[in-house]
Amino acid sequence: MKDAMTSTYSFGEIKRRGLMLVLSSPSGAGKTTISRAILQSDPNVNMSISCTTRKKRPGEVAGVDYHFTSQEDFNLMINRGQFLEYAQVFGNMYGTPKEPVDLTLHAGGDVLFDIDWQGTQQLKEKAREDLVSVFILPPSSKELERRLIARAQDEDAEIKSRMAKAADEMSHWAEYDYVIVNNDISESVAKVRSILESERLKRRRQEGLSDFVKRLQDGL
Ligand code: 5GP
Repeated sequence: MKDAMTSTYSFGEIKRRGLMLVLSSPSGAGKTTISRAILQSDPNVNMSISCTTRKKRPGEVAGVDYHFTSQEDFNLMINRGQFLEYAQVFGNMYGTPKEPVDLTLHAGGDVLFDIDWQGTQQLKEKAREDLVSVFILPPSSKELERRLIARAQDEDAEIKSRMAKAADEMSHWAEYDYVIVNNDISESVAKVRSILESERLKRRRQEGLSDFVKRLQDGL
């Protein structure tokens, strides 16, 4: 019998289905920073790039931060069924293109989504088994406001409107699998990483397990 440590069927090679990791929060709670840290440190995680009809902000890159689309093109994509989910947020349309997500999950890669509660509800209906949802809360409303103002890319009126809507967004915390209060970025990143690690070990996601165990039983 082969030593399990030297066998080609080591644990890390068991075929698995990817998962959909959703991070939601009111803007300014630190979600983007956490997402970037996860993406940089884990090559198995791929960011879902949404389409949006909102205007590009300074510093944003088309095709990296978002696919910036016209309302007409967005409607076309809706009619063709090309979105996994879509919603209106702050008066603009946002949607997740379906095809790249399907391909990544099937290949065993994980997909990270920065989407709001409306999108998360739609994913829950369509893909509950693949979904792992995390809600990020700011440590205080003062800190939330400070972060929004420090960001200063949005116009004054938009900051005010986002502060007003943060309270509404936060009312959806109980619809998520996990909730993290973002007191400290590196601690929050570590928490998201541990969620990811545990969820990857869920039996149903390890599609190659029965084959692996059969080989173990057969002494291969
Ligand atoms: P922002 O305009 O600040 O980039 O994003 C505004 C809000 O839209 C954020 O809460 C973000 O999570 C959400 N959002 C971004 N992309 C999508 C998407 O594809 N679907 C949904 N439902 N929400 C999105």
